[in-house]
Amino acid sequence: MSENYRQMWTELGLDLKAHDALLGVLSEAYQNIFMAQDNRPEAMSYFDFVMSEVHGLRIKELLDEKAAGRKIIGSYCVFVPEEIALAANATLIGLCTGADFATEEVEKYLPRNTCALIKSAFGFKLGRVCPYLETTDMVVGENTCDGKKKAYESFKDIINNLYVMDLPQVKSANGKALLKAEYVRFKEAAEQLTGVQVTAESLQAAIKLVNAKRAAMLRLYQLRAADPAPISGLDALLANQVFFYDNPERFTASVNKICDELEQRIKDNTGAFPAKMPRILVSGCPQAMPNWKLPAIIETSGAVIVGEESCVGERGVRNLVDESGTSVDEMLDAIVERYFKVDCAIFTPNCDRLQHIEQMAKAYNADGVIHYGLQFCTPYLMESMPVQKALEQKNIPCLRIETDYSMEDMGQLKTRVEAFIEQLK
Ligand code: SF4
Ligand code: SF4
Repeated sequence: MSENYRQMWTELGLDLKAHDALLGVLSEAYQNIFMAQDNRPEAMSYFDFVMSEVHGLRIKELLDEKAAGRKIIGSYCVFVPEEIALAANATLIGLCTGADFATEEVEKYLPRNTCALIKSAFGFKLGRVCPYLETTDMVVGENTCDGKKKAYESFKDIINNLYVMDLPQVKSANGKALLKAEYVRFKEAAEQLTGVQVTAESLQAAIKLVNAKRAAMLRLYQLRAADPAPISGLDALLANQVFFYDNPERFTASVNKICDELEQRIKDNTGAFPAKMPRILVSGCPQAMPNWKLPAIIETSGAVIVGEESCVGERGVRNLVDESGTSVDEMLDAIVERYFKVDCAIFTPNCDRLQHIEQMAKAYNADGVIHYGLQFCTPYLMESMPVQKALEQKNIPCLRIETDYSMEDMGQLKTRVEAFIEQLK
């Protein structure tokens, strides 16, 4: 891929040497983790192709969109509504934050004890290795956890197109009013960026497009309830990760194609793993591209992952926007209703999340839950304790993991995961 795109990357201002190194690591990890799996659905070949072109074809498509007058908006959180961006003639892409990069440079801006996800956002910019970030006309930061909201204050010193969205922390009437006001403000900012007014027609079309994308993912999740599991957790996570930056129509069609194949597999009693394997639900912090560490450990330790209670997973895509609104304002209300249900750990209290984890464990026939907390992530690490308590009261075993993006604790994590899986047997 690289020869065809070097000029494009140079024009985007990437550090080609560092970028080559990143692509080298990414491609090796993909080969070792994904391509080494047995019994993958054939339709996963679409995602293999996407990954082989991850910094190539999709970037070219985005640049072609820009040349045709569209704008590109980058985001770091599932609270940034894709529907509004699309309706204003912009493409929304989720920016990757799943690998360490330029750590020394990053620590000139952020304390060492900042979560890996936030550091990664800075590292990709400071290391000049992310072509997605470099195509953006606007990057939306959001006031979610303290780490993120304070980090954006420094982030604006290294990127020149940051827009900060405020977000509620309490699920109250005031909280909902704040979300609505912020979505209206975001609509206006997007309109100003693109020069295109959001209309009832454009917003309705965008709502339908994003609903279809989410519905395809929800269909995929439900199929994972089968035993044997028709798809590995790693492959399902990959689809979740690609969700954030692929072309929406093509992504939806590709996921539905996988689902058709999985339905057939279920009829044929064919799985990615044998039947009766211990089944794990992973819950907690988002596992952003290319963070595949924990699922790779779990699925090479004798268990299969049957669900992700995560923003890169069911928390991020469940609940569709009501499509019955007829005016822009009614549709914005429907969008607010949908996003206000996202049960991120930044909310206090956050009882819905506990219920959702239990519900998912039951729906996907999970034998146990592994709670994935990033080191220094106060909201999710704090919440991991009540999560464990609530699950154990329901006789669902729970293992709490706290880790980062480094590979240093691989051995130790594998030992703990193996012991937990053994206990499930
Ligand atoms: S975990 Fe919270 S802050 Fe992170 S992407 Fe999800 S909603 Fe946003
Ligand atoms: S993982 Fe935790 S600390 Fe890091 S950005 Fe998300 S909520 Fe904030």
